[in-house]
Amino acid sequence: MPMNYQQILNEIYEEIQPELLRGKVADYIPALAEVEKGQFAMTVTLADGTVYSVGDSKKAFSIQSISKVFTFTLALDIYSKELYKRVGVEPSGNPFNSLVQLEYENGIPRNPFINAGAITITDSLISYYKDEYKTLEVIMNFIREISGNPTLSFDQVVANSEMEHGDRNLALARLMKSFGNFENDVLGSVMTYFKHCAITMNTEELSRSMLFLAFGGTDPISGKVFVSTRKAKRINAVMLTCGHYDASGEFAFHVGLPAKSGVGGGIAAVVPGVMSIAVWSPALNKYGNSHSGTLALEKFTTKTGLSIF
Ligand code: GLN
Repeated sequence: MPMNYQQILNEIYEEIQPELLRGKVADYIPALAEVEKGQFAMTVTLADGTVYSVGDSKKAFSIQSISKVFTFTLALDIYSKELYKRVGVEPSGNPFNSLVQLEYENGIPRNPFINAGAITITDSLISYYKDEYKTLEVIMNFIREISGNPTLSFDQVVANSEMEHGDRNLALARLMKSFGNFENDVLGSVMTYFKHCAITMNTEELSRSMLFLAFGGTDPISGKVFVSTRKAKRINAVMLTCGHYDASGEFAFHVGLPAKSGVGGGIAAVVPGVMSIAVWSPALNKYGNSHSGTLALEKFTTKTGLSIF
């Protein structure tokens, strides 16, 4: 009998209620500190485009670090393995904004999903497109295409708020520049990074946008190839090992899916060959990952038996 995903989502929604106020919204970006706790949404998208949702699935939130999956996809498509001269693919075992490891590893970030790695990726895209505004437009258009929403945009207030408190990310970029691993203007590149982090999406759009990664780089609905199967495999591998920073091991242990989190409280995940999933709940655990979002995904893989292991 086919699984009743709607019923499973409804059960998760009920069970997660007592958890929703646990954790803390990201307050190091003041504009995000205003987001109300207690909100929750979850969406599953299948290969034929069937969508199952529960909660505030039409409510847009700041995707933050989930955008790093999309910029990594674009940069990997352009540079292939040349990219790995500038950024590694090992878990960092450190918080997402850590400076120490970058110093003793000579300005080469461990992976594209910690902040230093993602800022390097944005810098590499600016080098390719020769202009930060053009780069942002390419990133936005890519996300508009894969999400099926041609009007997606970013929140300038969130981006500005992050820049006002952006000393740590600017420090990461300057440190990389001091090691020769940065090509463009630091302020402009970091601002472009803040802008793509400030893109707003709801779980239906986010889930839709991850579908190509669940199906080997090809969107199963339109048939469009966004990246090669080999590259999609690598992106999923890096999501599994690095997508939740220093909690990536724990996430693999409890959930068992390639996934990427953001401090806006979103998590996007793929079940290869089956579906993509997005969940959102703004209160974070101590690693900066959505507390209830993580739990909801754990419940989902437990109830459905779907995981890559
Ligand atoms: N824009 C955020 C930052 O640079 C992204 C962090 C995150 O989502 N983990 O700190």
